[in-house]
Amino acid sequence: MSPFSRSALAGVAAVLVNAATGAPVAALFEAATRAQPAVIESLKDMVLIESGSANAEGIGKLADYTEKRLQALGAVTERIKPTRGPGVIVKGSFTGTGKKRILLIAHLDTVYPANTLATQPYKQEGNKLYGPGIADDKGGIAVILHSLQILKDAGWRDYAQLTVLSNSDEEVGSVGSGELIAALGDAHDFVFSFEPTAAKTLARNEGLLLGASGTATAMLEVKGRASHAGAAPQLGRNALIELSHQLLQTRDLAATIPGTQLNWTVAKAGEVRNQIPEAASAIGDVRVTVPGGAEKLQAALQEKANANRLVPDTQTSVAMEIGRPPYLANQAARALAKRAQAIYAELDGRELNLVENTGGGTDAGYAGRSGRAVVLESFGLAGWGYHAKDEYIEIDSIVPRLYLTTRLLTEVAKP
Ligand SMILES: [Zn+2]
Repeated sequence: MSPFSRSALAGVAAVLVNAATGAPVAALFEAATRAQPAVIESLKDMVLIESGSANAEGIGKLADYTEKRLQALGAVTERIKPTRGPGVIVKGSFTGTGKKRILLIAHLDTVYPANTLATQPYKQEGNKLYGPGIADDKGGIAVILHSLQILKDAGWRDYAQLTVLSNSDEEVGSVGSGELIAALGDAHDFVFSFEPTAAKTLARNEGLLLGASGTATAMLEVKGRASHAGAAPQLGRNALIELSHQLLQTRDLAATIPGTQLNWTVAKAGEVRNQIPEAASAIGDVRVTVPGGAEKLQAALQEKANANRLVPDTQTSVAMEIGRPPYLANQAARALAKRAQAIYAELDGRELNLVENTGGGTDAGYAGRSGRAVVLESFGLAGWGYHAKDEYIEIDSIVPRLYLTTRLLTEVAKP
């Protein structure tokens, strides 16, 4: 199952020993190959600990597991309470002898409620390993743990600071961990995020991700005046009619603001049939691919609402709740992604896709929010079916992903 053909391996080794400062590169590949059975063991261990975002007990168990593994690798660990919600954040810190500061992130939580294993058990079928959360994001944690084991065995300590962070609320927007991830991102030179990459059965090649939308919630509120709908409708100011007007006149507004998307999805007005409604409200799903996009959209919505009113004496206010920031690989991250492609090309028959954008959110957005760190996403295992049924990873992605992570870590750590 070696992606290197035997004959190619010797040639690759000869080229690559020069390319790496620390462990010889062919040795990294062989270590990754040897690690595969242990990675599968770790995946099984973690899948059997159910850890839905609301499952505090399960999250606690997976946090224990991850913390022990990090300690065994030589990390100083810390458990941090999220600022909102239940759960726990596990942080592992390694101090090395080099100059660079590197942060590795993956999340403990899954979207699955407790007892999902009863209907979606851990199992292997051919090249696929199934289990709830196995790709998103237990595969990511496994790649981190085993990559660090390989590098530890190789004696690699070329970093000033190496930090591993696992939060437990990624699947619910990272509302209690996002600010910590943003602060840690600013305190590191490089951030690798270990969300899964799409399975080869869908995407042909494994990849890295260069962008993801941020999220926000737009809220429209209309204040009118109540009145008897039968006896004195003329004394009322119909908030429902005004809301309808506002929704229609703003439905395409996002198209005029680059990097934003708005879809009104929820509306509410009125209490009873025979009263002109005095209040009405709507909620819109907002996606942004540029920093500050949601704020610009909010200002434009408010301006439009003030400028063009249908029902006199009504007031419309616009609020915007900012969610996960967009993730956008900066120039340095794009250059690093090219190096990752070259590393993948060292493996026989492998190519690395660079994916520009996905609709799904990622904590890479928090890590890179200020633009300071070089952030790349999707170092996890190749998989599919996340947030669905029959989630799986592809076993033959294990070695390439370990190889990519270990090689790129040694590359970026170079002085
Ligand atoms: Zn995830």
